[in-house]
Amino acid sequence: MIFLLTLLLSQSSFGQEIHYTFEDLPCVDKHFNVALHLPLDRLGNANITQEEIDTLFIEANLFFEPICMSFGYCSIDTIENYSFDSLTVGRMQKSAEHFNRDHMINIFLASTVASPDPCHVGNFEGITSPETAFGFLAKGCDGGGLAHVFGHILGLYDTFEGFTVELVDGSNCATAGDRLCDTPADPYNFSPLVQWTSECKFINVSETDANGELYNPQVGNVMSGYRLCRKGFTRQQFLRMVEVYSSLDFEIW
Ligand SMILES: [Zn+2]
Repeated sequence: MIFLLTLLLSQSSFGQEIHYTFEDLPCVDKHFNVALHLPLDRLGNANITQEEIDTLFIEANLFFEPICMSFGYCSIDTIENYSFDSLTVGRMQKSAEHFNRDHMINIFLASTVASPDPCHVGNFEGITSPETAFGFLAKGCDGGGLAHVFGHILGLYDTFEGFTVELVDGSNCATAGDRLCDTPADPYNFSPLVQWTSECKFINVSETDANGELYNPQVGNVMSGYRLCRKGFTRQQFLRMVEVYSSLDFEIW
């Protein structure tokens, strides 16, 4: 599988041609028992099948194999109050308050998640406290979306994070964007002006940074906003997740 992932990451759809080697990444040997929360709609329907949920986890797990991390749901908590099936920001907060199970990663699978990208809402570094490891995913998202949410909970920023605008030449990569230097500057900003093809090619090829350099983002990066194109993490993203997980002084089941 390591070979397969390396192959995926070196595809041109990843944007830049960067070849990662994962052989000497630390193996944390951790399986997370996820608490899954499934709100029903107004008519009492879940609108997702067990098979679809299984596929989500199988797909997401492929991304984490290089560091020997995996995720599986150990329970499905059905929420019969349909107001939790349409997650506004306020409802997300209430969901976590009412249903969160401590010492576990909690995933809420709702019909709608109020975000420009309903496949990316995870509590950043949520895993660093026993009560805050939670994320929200719309029922139509793929395993790349679930992996993205786990990435946030495990301490990864979006590749397009906008604290300071990252330069294409990488000169401010440690303090700008996602603060990692093997993920190139990414102009994605939820704007409809940033576009990509169904074959996962970046379209805005004439867009430049403050130095006038053309952007060439990793469209296939799991932490990017190019939905349905998410294909892998970079080496530094893996190391960051391992660092965050390894620093915990309490158990996450
Ligand atoms: Zn995100």
